[in-house]
Amino acid sequence: MEIIPLAFDSLGTRSMATKVVTKDASILIDPAAALAPKRYGLPPSRRERERLEEHLDLISRKAKGCQVLIVTHYHYDHHNPDRPEIFEGKIALVKDPKHHINRSQKLRASRFLDLINPKELIYCDSTNFKIRDTYLKFSKPVCHGSSSKLGYVVELFIEEGDERLVFTSDVEGPISSDQTDFILQNDPTTVILDGPMTYMLGYRYSEDSLRRTIANLRSILGLANLEHLIIDHHFMRDLSYKYRPGIEELYDLAAENGIKLTSAAEFAGKKIEMLEAMRGLT
Ligand SMILES: [Zn+2]
Ligand SMILES: [Zn+2]
Repeated sequence: MEIIPLAFDSLGTRSMATKVVTKDASILIDPAAALAPKRYGLPPSRRERERLEEHLDLISRKAKGCQVLIVTHYHYDHHNPDRPEIFEGKIALVKDPKHHINRSQKLRASRFLDLINPKELIYCDSTNFKIRDTYLKFSKPVCHGSSSKLGYVVELFIEEGDERLVFTSDVEGPISSDQTDFILQNDPTTVILDGPMTYMLGYRYSEDSLRRTIANLRSILGLANLEHLIIDHHFMRDLSYKYRPGIEELYDLAAENGIKLTSAAEFAGKKIEMLEAMRGLT
């Protein structure tokens, strides 16, 4: 299994777009990227706007070689209504647009699903699929964060031989036990996690959510077969990300257990460029 991060916050845009290639299928997860309209009260920099175009073009190019496109929920950094053509002729596995969804995502989902023209459209919540020796399984809808206010997402598990990937989408932690159980129960070798929103700590992300997330991350780092934990997206919007109290120790725990804990940029062998977090500084 080849795991290729295409666009991530550590690479300069809000995204978790990932291509996964097995010997049976090429799969593109959350083919979209976006920018924060405001950060530190500032609009996106020119560098961010250029990077966004680069990422969207890369996603469109990579989508061409994929049979399966996945949308875990209907936020613009995970689905892109401006490039519906990438779904043409593909198998689209998408979050159920009618159940376990909040009002704004329901509206966006209905507009988006009218625009795309896939070969097959399947609502993927709590389902599983087999493409020869590649197995895909989706979680039940879990909260986007600590409550359903921002809606729900589906987590994804992909297995090929003895390689097992969990992609969590926007769980903002994981904070809750059901978000975490999906990771633990699938005994992954690699996890791609959006991580805690420490850049909003104390206002849109509570100390309690962070405390629960750290405890859940400790359980994940205890998994016997885990080789690589990628924490990115929400986590990589905070310049002091790994030096937060309670988080620093997770890096020690990962090292003790022989697990690589990195951003998606490092996983891909690229340098970290947290353009949103650096807005106004460069
Ligand atoms: Zn989201
Ligand atoms: Zn997101």
